[in-house]
Amino acid sequence: LVRLRDVHLSFGASPVLKGIDLDVFRGQAVTIIGPSGSGKSTILRCITGLLRPQRGTIEVDGTRADLLSSERDEIELRKRVGFVFQQYNLFPHLSVLDNLVVAPVRILGRDKASAKRTAYELLEKVRLADKAHAYPGQLSGGQQQRVAIARALAMQPDLILFDEVTSALDPETVGEVLTVIRELVRDGMTCVLVTHEMRFAEEVSDAVYFTESGVIVEHGPANRVFHAPANPRTREFLARAT
Ligand code: ATP
Ligand code: MG
Repeated sequence: LVRLRDVHLSFGASPVLKGIDLDVFRGQAVTIIGPSGSGKSTILRCITGLLRPQRGTIEVDGTRADLLSSERDEIELRKRVGFVFQQYNLFPHLSVLDNLVVAPVRILGRDKASAKRTAYELLEKVRLADKAHAYPGQLSGGQQQRVAIARALAMQPDLILFDEVTSALDPETVGEVLTVIRELVRDGMTCVLVTHEMRFAEEVSDAVYFTESGVIVEHGPANRVFHAPANPRTREFLARAT
């Protein structure tokens, strides 16, 4: 579903991605781990088409994300790729329900009644049906993050990117968000995760990529990377992270 080949990207004179190769197959959960500043978020932004690499190719479901030539193509790509960040970025002036309805109506042209039905189903799924008429400011961080996940799902994307979605949460609420992601993965949603929750990553991921200084130092099945890292840098990172 996603294929990066030899992706190079610099901000000004500083190279941030130095030849990234990465594959995500349909139905897989792929996790990117690595030290701060190693390029994890930059990789995700490349997949959404928000950033264009100077060199290399990025394919998302047959679309070249590195070659989008019009605004319409960008919108088309963004419809298919859901993105959930550390900051939930919900619309504060809209109810939880309306947060889930706005984009499907405006961008996908869904009619409002059916968008609402879907929204209720998704809130059910993230266990927040009782909060449909609350406003984001009235919810806990974990609840807001679950709304953000439901909002991404409301667009019926082909894949969802999760960038450190639990990093800003209280320890007690991390679990409820991970549970929702775990269920998504189990249901076959294609996911790319950046996370510091190593145990969770090991549990849900089909493949793990370890990045350092803009390079994929090591990748492989979660089991193998976590329990028998081949690269000394991965070993060192994991020893400190867990
Ligand atoms: P973290 O774990 O802290 O989120 P990361 O692995 O996600 O780190 P990135 O956000 O991808 O790292 O950043 C990689 C490098 O690119 C960093 O050195 C960062 O300072 C730099 N960088 C990221 N975005 C920009 C930007 N818009 N302009 C200039 N430099 C940037
Ligand atoms: Mg980041």
